[in-house]
Amino acid sequence: MTKRARKTENRWTVLVAALLVLAPDPARPLMVARDTLDIYFIDVEGGQSTLLVTPAGDSLLVDTGYPGFDGRDPTRILAAARDAGVTRIDYLLITHFHTDHDGGVVDLARQIPIRTFIDHGGLLPTGDAEKDSTWPGYVALLNAYIPVRAKGKHLEPKPGDRLPLKGVDVVFVSSAAATIAKPVQGAGQPNPACEASAPPAQDPYENPRSTGFQLRFGTFRFIDLGDLSGPPLFALLCPSSLLGPADLYLVPHHGGPDVSYPATFAAVHPLVAIVNNGATKGGSPEVFAGLRRARGLHDVWQLHRSENQGAENFADDRIANLDEATGHWIKASANRDGSFTVTNGRTGVTKSYTARARP
Ligand SMILES: [Zn+2]
Repeated sequence: MTKRARKTENRWTVLVAALLVLAPDPARPLMVARDTLDIYFIDVEGGQSTLLVTPAGDSLLVDTGYPGFDGRDPTRILAAARDAGVTRIDYLLITHFHTDHDGGVVDLARQIPIRTFIDHGGLLPTGDAEKDSTWPGYVALLNAYIPVRAKGKHLEPKPGDRLPLKGVDVVFVSSAAATIAKPVQGAGQPNPACEASAPPAQDPYENPRSTGFQLRFGTFRFIDLGDLSGPPLFALLCPSSLLGPADLYLVPHHGGPDVSYPATFAAVHPLVAIVNNGATKGGSPEVFAGLRRARGLHDVWQLHRSENQGAENFADDRIANLDEATGHWIKASANRDGSFTVTNGRTGVTKSYTARARP
């Protein structure tokens, strides 16, 4: 080998060594550096699946959409996880045991590691099979989920418990029909829009048992209550708001008619609301009307254009899916100072919201 060739070879050796040092260790998940808290509202056609990724790269998935449809909903969840650079689910919260929330979990767990499962334990026997005709279906899904849950850690939080996530504060506000007795930090204001009692829940059994939470990241606040409705939702809102204001509010129960009474939006006072409706599921005319009346609300984003009769949809550029042929998400990215952006996965257009002055 000539002197020159040896010199070139040495250079290559140094370069290859440097590349090996820089190359990611395949045994460690690739972490994506970020400053924002990212929230993907995944389209599961009127169910729920919401993926939250903290600046530290920890992930909290809320619900898994429906079963069936050739694995449609787990596939959409995995696409969001890929987009977020997430290779495992640190926490999976199943808000309650209904098909549109726990349906995708068995299939999803086969495709991505899930470390900790959070839920309210199990179903309560209702003794009311006539009113709840799909009851055997709920039991079958729960029975399929229990062995999957047994492979990871399992938490059954009580209202007031916190989730040990770095850099964000997640407090559970409802679970198994119980609610927090004291307001979350900064809440507790009397709610002048309260009526004497709660409107009845469409489903009086499992929806009011939803495990809901408030998340704080700096001064940014997000609320996700699953399908909470009936007396437990009312207890969080009236006579005082135990939740306080939210910058971003996922309207409970997909925007069903039982969560749209005036006290709800007056208590949470959202800057931006998200409705995770389907073409005909949720997205009730009552909710759209209530949102239009809500004071201080800047915007409403819908996962679907609602085809429900009388539903006055918001503008198309705030709607991620105009029909059932597509599965686009809505993505929010929040900053510590309370400012955040919302992106329509269909159009790619992002809108910015500045932090609201806090009392
Ligand atoms: Zn639901």
